[in-house]
Amino acid sequence: MQEESVCPLCHHGAARDTLKSLNGYCYTCRDCGGMFEIGTGAYRRAELGELHPQISGSVRQLIAQGKVPRIEFDATNGSFQVLPDVRKP
Ligand SMILES: [Zn+2]
Repeated sequence: MQEESVCPLCHHGAARDTLKSLNGYCYTCRDCGGMFEIGTGAYRRAELGELHPQISGSVRQLIAQGKVPRIEFDATNGSFQVLPDVRKP
């Protein structure tokens, strides 16, 4: 179910859905250009303000190309990564 929320990338109003996998959320943000996913670990860190501005840039770029990117946090090396398109197998 969609709920009103705040975009973790631009901090403007956005709609979000909890993913069926329960590993994160799917956001629809007008200011970022469309839809993207964020994993639970990455989301927690974004809330703490640890999301690098570069990540927002690459996510927006992928959305502009018609993709649905996903932001993940890789705990093994302590860095964020962006998967280019969740709709591709
Ligand atoms: Zn946004």
